[in-house]
This record gives sequence, C-alpha cells and structure tokens, in this order.
Amino acid sequence: MKKTAAAVAVILVAVLAVFVFYDGVLNKTSDADFFSMNTYVSAKVTGYESDLCTAEIQKIVENLDTEILSRTAENSLVSQINKNGGGELDLQTAAYFSLLLDVCRQSAGAFDFTLGAVSDLWSFGSSPKIPDENELLEALSHSGYEKIVLSGNSIELQDKSAVLDFGASGKGISLDSIKACLETRDIKNAVVSVGGSSLLFGDKDFTVGIRNPEGNAGSYIAKLHIGEGCVSTSGSYEQSFEENGKTYHHILDPETGYPVDNGLVGVTIVSESGLLSDVLSTACFVLGVEKGSALAAEYGCTAIFVTEDKKIHVEGNSDIIEITDSSYTLAE
Ligand code: ADP
Ligand code: MG
Repeated sequence: MKKTAAAVAVILVAVLAVFVFYDGVLNKTSDADFFSMNTYVSAKVTGYESDLCTAEIQKIVENLDTEILSRTAENSLVSQINKNGGGELDLQTAAYFSLLLDVCRQSAGAFDFTLGAVSDLWSFGSSPKIPDENELLEALSHSGYEKIVLSGNSIELQDKSAVLDFGASGKGISLDSIKACLETRDIKNAVVSVGGSSLLFGDKDFTVGIRNPEGNAGSYIAKLHIGEGCVSTSGSYEQSFEENGKTYHHILDPETGYPVDNGLVGVTIVSESGLLSDVLSTACFVLGVEKGSALAAEYGCTAIFVTEDKKIHVEGNSDIIEITDSSYTLAE
C-alpha cells in the first residue's frame, strides 16, 4: 500500500515537473531594447517562439529605417526618391504610401509627409533653432502632398525639391510590419513600443498609460484599458525648445511651417492599424479637437485629446479611459 502511494507521488511529481517545464518553454518571455528610427524601441514577447521574434523585431525596425524610410540614410529608398524626384516601390511600401496620401487628403493637408525640408530647418533631434523666415517660406513652397503622384508602384515628386519625411509615420509602419510577423509565429502576446507608438498583440487585457505632459517619462495622467491594437501619442512636449520665452515643438502646421499652437499638448489614437494610429495622432494634433474628432471618426479610431488647460476630450470609445490624475477632467 505504502509502495503504491509512493509510486503515485513520484508519478505526480514527474507529471508536474514536465508540466512546469513545458509551461516554461511555451510561455517564456524575451525582451529586446535598442535604438532605431531616432528613438528607443522596446519589445516584450511571450510564447514558444519569443526569442526568434525579438530578433526579428529588431531586424524589421532597423531594415525599415536604413533601407526604406530614413531620409538621412544615404541609400534608403526614401533618400533615393528625394534625390531623384521619384522611384519604384515594392507592393507593401506602395500600399503604405497610398494610405498616407489618403490621410493627407482626408485631413485637408493637416498631415503632410512632404514637409521634410521645413522640418530640417527646425533641426529637431539635433540642435533645434527658429529658422530664417525666408528660408522657411522657400522650403514651404516646395512642400505639399498634391505634388506626389503615386501610380501603381511608381512614385513621382512633381516638385523635385519636395522632401518626403516619415517622422510621423515610420514608427506606425514598423508596428504593422511587426504585427504581420508575429501573426506567423507561435506567440501568446507581445508589447512592442517604437517611441510613442505601441503594438499590443495577443488575446489579453492591456493597460497603456497616457503620459503627464508636465511630468517625466514615468508619470501618467490616465490609463487606457484595451485589447489587441495599436496606440500612438503625439505630444508637443516630446521634442521642444525655448527661445525668447516661447516654446517651439516639432509638430508643424503645414500652412505656416511653424509649430501648431492650438491649446493641445497631446493626442493619443487607438487603432487596429499602427500606421493609422501614428499618422492620425499627428493629423489630429494639427487639426485640433473638433476637426480632429471628425477625422478620427472617419477612420473608426478612438482619439484622446489633452489640452493645456487640463481637459481630456474623447472621440470614440470613452469606456477605455480611466483618469488617474485628478487635476485633469473629462470634457463634456
Ligand atoms: P513623434 O515623432 O514624437 O512620435 P509624431 O508622430 O507626431 O511625433 O511625428 C512628428 C514628426 O513628423 C516631426 O518630427 C516631423 O518630422 C514630422 N511632422 C511634423 N509635422 C507634420 C505634419 N503636419 N504632417 C506630417 N508630418 C509632420
Ligand atoms: Mg505620429
């Protein structure tokens, strides 16, 4: 009798050990942290193929940056297009460009990815300064998405001095490429952040913080409770400098070439698409609460606008937001 009990105990321990071992293998977590696209990228992936995925994620972001989207990497596709006034795109890139043009049109030019020469004059990311007025007007005269002709896989810049800039969309494009990769892998869930844009992947309840515009990177004013999707924030506090008592930031009004000054400090977009979350956060920031809300609704996204006077406006699903800083209130 004693022998039987001992044997059963041994079998139970063995089964438990096998279970713990397999659970450890199937649910193992891998992390990756690196710098690319001029920002910090972090990935946390859980599942059987997590190691493989974190390596792939790094490759995807770095390749997209240096081979396709960067306008400073000499041999990237976008650098070549900017230099030659056009070029040929692969199918996937052509699809991304087509969606970007759609957002340019739907936002009536509030989002415009031909502002590269204007952005360059502000030198955000290196040593920011107020540009010379004449240089700014000259650069602005060569921008305008209407000058892009996309025909199948060919792109042409009708003004050869127009400069394509993916500063407001590259991070979102990375998230869509990463999502497509994760879908082919044995993965339970993942959280990937490329700067202010995040992919939440898998069947899980995720919590994402909205940063305190006045605080440091670890301080939040609200939490978003969401399932699988992408979340991007454009904030005037992300890249800014002060001169003569005035603050200048990196989100530009395509009509003037100057930073948008409309009472907003941040816009967060929740979308199934990384690209849409990224570009709409910029577009809605430029458009302001009213027109931005209409644009977000058109694309079926939830938009959260944070104003200088600490009001939070939500367009879309307001059930997902929990305000955690009592100095901020939900606008009616
Ligand atoms: P972040 O880069 O902080 O995530 P955004 O996604 O809003 O912020 O992108 C801002 C960048 O996009 C700027 O640094 C600039 O390169 C570019 N940009 C600025 N204004 C516009 C605009 N109106 N439309 C498209 N791109 C813009
Ligand atoms: Mg953006």
